[in-house]
Amino acid sequence: MSNIFSKIISGEIPCHKVAEDDLHLAFLDINPVAYGHTLVIPKMGIDYIFDMSDESLTNLMLFSKKVAKALKKVVDCKKIGVSVIGLEVPHAHVHLIPINAIQDMTFGKSIGISQADLTALANKIATNF
Ligand code: 5GP
Repeated sequence: MSNIFSKIISGEIPCHKVAEDDLHLAFLDINPVAYGHTLVIPKMGIDYIFDMSDESLTNLMLFSKKVAKALKKVVDCKKIGVSVIGLEVPHAHVHLIPINAIQDMTFGKSIGISQADLTALANKIATNF
């Protein structure tokens, strides 16, 4: 099914990429709820994360772990929070969010960040991946 994330995978739509392997892509959220808010997606076209096979879900989480480690090196925070929502984009994805307080995980808000700052941040995370 074609959606915004499948178009990012195919390169039709640009993203601020932070990491990639054969099966996964990680990029910065365009409307971050916190500085460093990153999305990790499988390249396979599947909507609901819990429809993924055990193997694919395990691979997604292990890739997310590697991205989270790189993110933690770059963004000053206590932990990287993990969330799965999927109500807006029908392509399975994991939100990785640098957090210092539980409020940092609150959705429905967006920090203001420029395209230039997103580019610089993505490059730093990619370098640490
Ligand atoms: P969810 O589907 O988990 O409810 O939310 C989808 C997330 O994808 C949101 O945090 C939203 O900001 C993000 N998002 C939506 N469209 C784009 C896009 O074109 N590029 C990027 N990088 N993120 C997007």
